[in-house]
Amino acid sequence: MKIAILSRNKRLYSTRRLVEACEQRGHEVRVIDTLRCYMNITSEKPELHYGGENLEGFDAVIPRIGASITFYGTAVLRQFEMMGVFPANESVAISRSRDKLRSLQLLSRDNVGMPKTGFANSPGDIQDLIKMVGGAPLVIKLLEGTQGIGVVLAETKKAAESVIEAFMGLNANILIQEFIKEAGGADIRCFVIGNRVVAAMQRQGAEGEFRSNLHRGGTASLIKITPQERATAIKAAKVMGLNVAGVDLLRSDRGPLVMEVNSSPGLEGIEQATEKDVAGMIIEFIEKNAKPHRTRTKGRG
Ligand code: ADP
Repeated sequence: MKIAILSRNKRLYSTRRLVEACEQRGHEVRVIDTLRCYMNITSEKPELHYGGENLEGFDAVIPRIGASITFYGTAVLRQFEMMGVFPANESVAISRSRDKLRSLQLLSRDNVGMPKTGFANSPGDIQDLIKMVGGAPLVIKLLEGTQGIGVVLAETKKAAESVIEAFMGLNANILIQEFIKEAGGADIRCFVIGNRVVAAMQRQGAEGEFRSNLHRGGTASLIKITPQERATAIKAAKVMGLNVAGVDLLRSDRGPLVMEVNSSPGLEGIEQATEKDVAGMIIEFIEKNAKPHRTRTKGRG
């Protein structure tokens, strides 16, 4: 097969591993810098151009689209879809997953467990909002944040009020969430491909840190997940419409709670913690599922 990897940087671990896995399995592979693609969207025949060249003949595309370029990246991916190229994840599913609030609303509609979460716009409603999620301590999250930046633990009601007021004063979009204390500063990353969890790791925050992000000094280790955790992760990916997803769970007294579903999950942490060939499994999924014009939505969403 001829496979395209949409990625801004060839040297990133995940990109390198996907290239390696394609080559090992006998495919032709090419890394394409998402932001250097351009297109004539009014042309009768959908086309993608790249440094003067017409990109064609691809059977599948693996999007690795960073949060900061979601808008342009999904447009490029949509163009591939309109050309009939099979995407590992569809553009509509990626856009959906990038909107934290929309994702949580979709998950809740399908009864996927999640921390009690509230969202409001007016400072006048702060008191009631805090009450709604069960009072302090609570977690305040910037909707645009990633890698744990913009996630604040407010230990008291007073602290919660002032942080929420400050964020609202800056016109930042935030959500308020029940703090899952029993998670103990750890979360579980389930790597889903198709309808299987192919690898799982636990991430533990540094001493005194409630955020377990590896970028914040957290450490990863291999973990055995329960059947309920497995089922929750698979369902969360399915609700979002993602074939390849990193589902982050918190272990709570009332079972697994989904925090986030990531559409471009990194491979480095999970491959190192589990010693599994996750990149190879992504390519295997593509081999089994890629057929010309097999995109469900063709970019319609
Ligand atoms: P980001 O998308 O920026 O990584 P997350 O929502 O995943 O933000 O939060 C970062 C980390 O903070 C999580 O990995 C988890 O360890 C911790 N955390 C987030 N929400 C909660 C919560 N409601 N209760 C307990 N810990 C939480």
